[in-house]
Amino acid sequence: MAGTSRRFVFAFDEGDKDHKELLGGKGAGLAEMTNLGLPVPPGFTVSTEACRLYLADGQVPPELAGEIDAHLGRLESERGKRFGSASDPMLVSVRSGAKFSMPGMMETILDIGLNDASVDGLAAAAGSERFAWDSYRRLIQMFGSTVLGIDPARFSTVLETVERSTGAAGDVDLDAATLRSLVTNYKAIVRDETGRDFPQNPREQLTMAIRAVFESWNTERARVYRRQERIPHDLGTAVNVMAMVYGNLGPDSGTGVAFTRDPATGTPGVYGDYLSEAQGEDVVAGIRTPVPLQDLERLDPVSYAELRRIMALLEGHYRDLCDVEFTIERGRLWMLQTRIGKRTAAAAFRLAIQFLDDGLIDVEEALGRVTGEQLTQLMFPQFDPHIEAKPIATGVPASPGAAVGTAVFDSATAARTDPNVILVRRETSPDDLPGIIAAEGVLTSRGGKTSHAAVVARGMGKTCVVGADGLEIDADRRQFTTTDGVVVREGDTISIDGSTGRVYSGTIDVVPSPVVEYFEGRLDAAVRRRDPVVQAVSRMMIYADERRRLGVHANADTPADAKRARQFRADGIGLCRTEHMFLGERRHHIEELILAESAAEQDKVLAELLPMQLGDFVGILAAMDGLPVTIRLIDPPLHEFLPDLTELSVKVALAEAGGAIDEGDVRLLRAVRRLHEQNPMLGLRGVRLGLVVPGLVAMQVRAIAEAAAARIRAGDDPRPEIMVPLVGGVEEFELMREEIVRVLHDVSESSGIEVRARIGTMIELPRAALTAASIAEHADFFSFGTNDLTQTTWGFSRDDVEGSFFPAYLKKGIFAASPFDSLDEEGVGRLVSIAVEEGRAVRGGLLIGVCGEHGGDPSSVRFFDRVGLDYVSCSPFRVPIARLEAGRAAVLKASSEGDTR
Ligand code: ADP
Ligand code: MG
Ligand code: MG
Repeated sequence: MAGTSRRFVFAFDEGDKDHKELLGGKGAGLAEMTNLGLPVPPGFTVSTEACRLYLADGQVPPELAGEIDAHLGRLESERGKRFGSASDPMLVSVRSGAKFSMPGMMETILDIGLNDASVDGLAAAAGSERFAWDSYRRLIQMFGSTVLGIDPARFSTVLETVERSTGAAGDVDLDAATLRSLVTNYKAIVRDETGRDFPQNPREQLTMAIRAVFESWNTERARVYRRQERIPHDLGTAVNVMAMVYGNLGPDSGTGVAFTRDPATGTPGVYGDYLSEAQGEDVVAGIRTPVPLQDLERLDPVSYAELRRIMALLEGHYRDLCDVEFTIERGRLWMLQTRIGKRTAAAAFRLAIQFLDDGLIDVEEALGRVTGEQLTQLMFPQFDPHIEAKPIATGVPASPGAAVGTAVFDSATAARTDPNVILVRRETSPDDLPGIIAAEGVLTSRGGKTSHAAVVARGMGKTCVVGADGLEIDADRRQFTTTDGVVVREGDTISIDGSTGRVYSGTIDVVPSPVVEYFEGRLDAAVRRRDPVVQAVSRMMIYADERRRLGVHANADTPADAKRARQFRADGIGLCRTEHMFLGERRHHIEELILAESAAEQDKVLAELLPMQLGDFVGILAAMDGLPVTIRLIDPPLHEFLPDLTELSVKVALAEAGGAIDEGDVRLLRAVRRLHEQNPMLGLRGVRLGLVVPGLVAMQVRAIAEAAAARIRAGDDPRPEIMVPLVGGVEEFELMREEIVRVLHDVSESSGIEVRARIGTMIELPRAALTAASIAEHADFFSFGTNDLTQTTWGFSRDDVEGSFFPAYLKKGIFAASPFDSLDEEGVGRLVSIAVEEGRAVRGGLLIGVCGEHGGDPSSVRFFDRVGLDYVSCSPFRVPIARLEAGRAAVLKASSEGDTR
């Protein structure tokens, strides 16, 4: 339909659901319903192309007006009414609709075509004065705010005053005379604000409204929304012009929204709301309480049956859960919108399985319909669903989970009180960091999903509810008050649900996620069979595992983690960090190593460390028998093992003042000073440490090799891999490799057991990625350390930037997500691609993985699949998410349907 000759306007019966680019989502849906023969009011769509031209040139294409006239003419003959007629006017709505839905970004204007003359004609034709004046006041209000840019509060204030003075409980109670005087008032507001009268010419109203929709594409909030959602700015929006149907024509009229199945749980049935005597958004605007859709069966059985039939048809046609908007005008049903309905995580899994079992979709498509993010949602602990408590407030669910604790109103108190506290703040700032770290959960009364509290809490995986507007927080008096007047004081227990935004007073029992219990093999079979969500998840996991190409490994440092990794079906350990093995009680050994003044002293310390390391490795290799275990040599800067410089300085100074000098402390202080770094992240760590502290790496490798020999002797099949961190140049790696090979050889000789291990490197510095070709000549594998690679590519110190300016960056849309949560494909991802390509060009089968936490991030997993990595590695808890996404990546690539927006 597109492309033949230049055309900007398409009647609904000319389009279909596959023309979202040109007609927008709403236009495509209206066209599809029209073609299915459903009762859609006639109308036409002005294409996104016209919008793009308007935005580029500042004026609509010259042929547009003529095309619109022609289509209006067609509408008139279909409706048997004239646009602008004074006796029986046809009215239209002007509705924006871009390719991707942008809720709340661009307004719709109803009842276009009314003016001082035709309002009487409408009243006469409909036999209702009240209805006509109600429509007129709605038009002036919507047109005034959307097209003329008048603050909507100016209208609503007048409306409220009139309602109060007439004793009306709401807009339905206003009679014709009152509405008429309201119109007079509204027109005065328009004159006052714009210096001209409300436009009386219907065609001019239409032209202005269409332009306003075009312009709304570029409002600041629409731009910010698109930046955050990564929707391109150059798509433009379509405009749908549609003959009005009236839900405000008396008690046998009304308007409603409905879902073909329950979008909350996925249960089949009738879900929706209906409001009689209402138009447009009334049903969702909360001005009056709608009735459940089932009640329509009693109010208007014929329309109800027709609606049910249409919904079933749409669902079969779209092969998915649909939502619809409809209006009933004097007993006659009209369909105003349809689209694939949004759903909760639980519903997404259940629906995919339902449609699969009904034979409407295949496994590939089912996998395309659930996401790793949704699985994440299902893995958080939850409040016991059997407990029926009434929330005292509701805010924006910012970081999922269920948290119970005592309310605390400042961060210092939170940080010092016992563990179970909920930090309650109006909003948070970087100063609140210690409080957020200490708290079980965070509750704020201001801000949205990108506020400071939301970002930081999500980063820490901490439950968070923000923007609970109703809360009156008084930090000085240490209490908050809800809209219902409930007062919660410091020390009172509250429960917050980060998945729903609900806040409860008192303790709500928290139960572990049944999905996690299932993954851990702790859910008994009977419960599992009864729980449809667990059922659905388990089946999707099987499908994903069958299809994925990408291996999924776990990051695990202890035998306990390793066991959990196996339960979660990891294919190996992609990152075993060795540094924690030196912390706690063992820390003083490292202190001694640093203070050692002779090679002999150093050897003595290393000899003490060896058996401890050996024990660790034996445990992990045993737990992962037969699977690869990638062990990273010691990475962090030495000062992490030493006392704090300031504290030690004070201690020594005090001792000196008291005349009791401790020689050990003085030596230690000298060492701490010597090792002190301004920028430890960029200092003496990783391979650099291994190269300058003699014997450290040899000891670690010996422990690995002896552990492997011990497991072989025990009849196991250990598969250690040795990974060198923070390599920037091949020379560093070559030296390390020589030493590693030598020790492996020594142990093989002395134990009489041939110990083999791959020797590879992390790629976590831009220089390593850029010189991957030369490194690949010597390395058996690469593993991307995307956390450090992100830090060094962006020049960010993660600990410093996440709490300080990231919230502002997210709010401005500079980031759609933190580059530490979701891989920055354009920058960091480019380095990854270069290293993969150039590394494999030198060594064909080079094994390549990623061990940063990005390995468990859904969109990053899809990227790693695309660039050809062999595996991703992430924390055990995220292994199922990565498995699911790896399966999705495999099938979405095949169908290139990766767009889940
Ligand atoms: P949104 O994208 O915000 O849902 P819509 O374009 O769907 O905006 O319109 C807002 C409201 O007006 C919806 O409830 C819709 O059903 C209603 N509406 C739109 N066009 C018409 C029309 N021609 N007749 C009656 N109601 C309409
Ligand atoms: Mg709508
Ligand atoms: Mg690193």
